[in-house]
Amino acid sequence: MTEPAIQYCYAHPTRETSLRCKRCDRPICTSCAVSTPTGYICRDCMRERQKSFDTAVWYDFVSGFIIAGLLSGLASFLVTFVGGIGFIGWLLIFLGSSAAGGIIAEAVRAVTRRRRSRALFLTIGAGVVFGALPMLLLQLLSGNIFGLIFQAIYLVIAAPMVYARLSGIQLSR
Ligand SMILES: [Zn+2]
Ligand SMILES: [Zn+2]
Repeated sequence: MTEPAIQYCYAHPTRETSLRCKRCDRPICTSCAVSTPTGYICRDCMRERQKSFDTAVWYDFVSGFIIAGLLSGLASFLVTFVGGIGFIGWLLIFLGSSAAGGIIAEAVRAVTRRRRSRALFLTIGAGVVFGALPMLLLQLLSGNIFGLIFQAIYLVIAAPMVYARLSGIQLSR
């Protein structure tokens, strides 16, 4: 009778397991295994994988946030400006917001030299929202409901657009 050799998790020497990491082939227990599309891998290998997706450096967060904030501030100003001209204004906001999202994403990409990380993209998304805050507050203080709606439309379109563009999800070209 051939008993399969008992193996123990490399991180938890007391836990028996039949799982192995797909990448480094070390035995791993269920609490160490990370599920991926290609099978279970260990935490160390997961960290290695994430590192190769994560190329952003600290100043990308600063420059990306500033660029996104400045451009978004400009866009949100234009949104309020064109929103006042009636029906065409609404149309321009819809079209202009996605265009602004595209422009912001490209500008950020140029500044950060296409380095990437999920945290960076989220920071830049926050920059887009942050940049629109002065205009948003101004509309709020002046009780301009339409102005607020315009800003909301702009942010709902532009912020996800920037994030999607940066993270490589192609919505449209
Ligand atoms: Zn591994
Ligand atoms: Zn373990």
